[in-house]
Amino acid sequence: MKVTVFGIGYVGLVQAAVLAEVGHDVVCVDVDQAKVDNLKKGIIPIYEPGLTPLVTSNFEAGRVDFTTDAKMGVEHGDLIFIAVGTPPDEDGSADLKYVLKVAETVASHMTSHKIIINKSTVPVGTADKVKAKVQSVLEEKNKALSFNVVSNPEFLKEGAAVNDCMRPDRIILGTDDAKAEKKLRELYAPFNRNHDKVIVMDIRSAELTKYAANCMLATKISFMNEMANLAERFGADIENVRKGIGSDPRIGYQFIYPGCGYGGSCFPKDVQALIRSAKTVGYTAEILESVEAVNYRQKEKLFEYIHAHFDGQLAGKKVALWGLSFKPNTDDMREASSRVLMEKLWQAGASVQAYDPEAMEETQRIYGSRDDLSLMGTKEAALDGADFLVICTEWQAFRAPDFDLIRNKLSTPLIFDGRNLFDPALIAEYGVHYYAIGRGLSV
Ligand code: NAD
Repeated sequence: MKVTVFGIGYVGLVQAAVLAEVGHDVVCVDVDQAKVDNLKKGIIPIYEPGLTPLVTSNFEAGRVDFTTDAKMGVEHGDLIFIAVGTPPDEDGSADLKYVLKVAETVASHMTSHKIIINKSTVPVGTADKVKAKVQSVLEEKNKALSFNVVSNPEFLKEGAAVNDCMRPDRIILGTDDAKAEKKLRELYAPFNRNHDKVIVMDIRSAELTKYAANCMLATKISFMNEMANLAERFGADIENVRKGIGSDPRIGYQFIYPGCGYGGSCFPKDVQALIRSAKTVGYTAEILESVEAVNYRQKEKLFEYIHAHFDGQLAGKKVALWGLSFKPNTDDMREASSRVLMEKLWQAGASVQAYDPEAMEETQRIYGSRDDLSLMGTKEAALDGADFLVICTEWQAFRAPDFDLIRNKLSTPLIFDGRNLFDPALIAEYGVHYYAIGRGLSV
């Protein structure tokens, strides 16, 4: 099938690549000329496991192409995906300007029936706005062309995006049109062989489903962080509590790890956006407001431990930092906990020596060169001459480090672990002091 994807970000690029892989004929349109030029040279703008070979092989086979030529893109696809960003605007609600711009672009170039599929995460009612935008442009052009707008939210996880798109848990289709539904079922049939994963519903429910999913996940994290903070004060160990509650199948073990807060491009902005859109219908989303507040506080947790341990005397300290990305297997630093920590350390006069397997370039891009930030080539090099170690991201490579080396390299044998990677008793045997989340202040 002929497909066009507007927006070559984490969602658009991965979706385009997997659609091409199963044989669809895909054109990707982006406004970023450099990104398009790089993709044509095989330079992939993001780190995502398995993505580079998938994109390059399908590009070489002619099944996916990249362009800034929106007219060509609109002419190509019978099915047109919108996969552009919906960042928070000033008050936290989702900014729809990129989505509506694509709607306008599609309308201004279309000369035949199009199915416009919204994959961006958007507030309930956005499909109506997209419809109205397309309609108004068509009226201006005096063109009586038909089109459908479908809501098809994306549930991929960064770090596992290719697998998630190849083997989705569910494919949500929000549509009121039987022909559009049939076309989308045909498009997704290659990903729907094991059992029927397509769930068809009305458009508004589909739009809300995406927010409900992310808000539920964010709630689980903030709930566990709240329990961790209580465990700490009661002298309990949150890791025992986690295992104890996870064994109840109604709760389950998934997604109940405490830590130094959630980040990324989705949870913070989607929780905020649903809080704001709730207000537009006269509702105060009290649970979500708390989820956000707990997370905000949790991101400061590591700094609080550090500040308390050193009695606020952080000026001149050199901090080894492992993990910069907001979670493992990605280079995405959007809303990462590491950023809150680094910025607080810098304010307090400390310097940071950081290592991340994938996010160093992104860190450089965000912070540029500064005297109080050194990006090191290995996790061991980050320890050189440092006073203590902080861990912000649970990369696999950090899970079984050489504790003797850590003790010998650090001026104070001390680890602040924002992801509870280690057994405190084991660390104590190595003569290293250990702070983790919700496990007692210092072990
Ligand atoms: P992104 O910022 O990585 O990419 C967006 C792309 O859209 C950029 O390349 C930008 O240049 C391009 N763009 C902007 N305006 C354009 C236009 N008029 N025409 C063509 N291209 C244009 O964004 P992302 O992380 O892929 O997220 C896209 C949407 O999907 C968001 O709504 C997000 O909430 C949602 N989502 C993201 C994830 C995720 O894990 N990143 C998962 C599910 C859903």
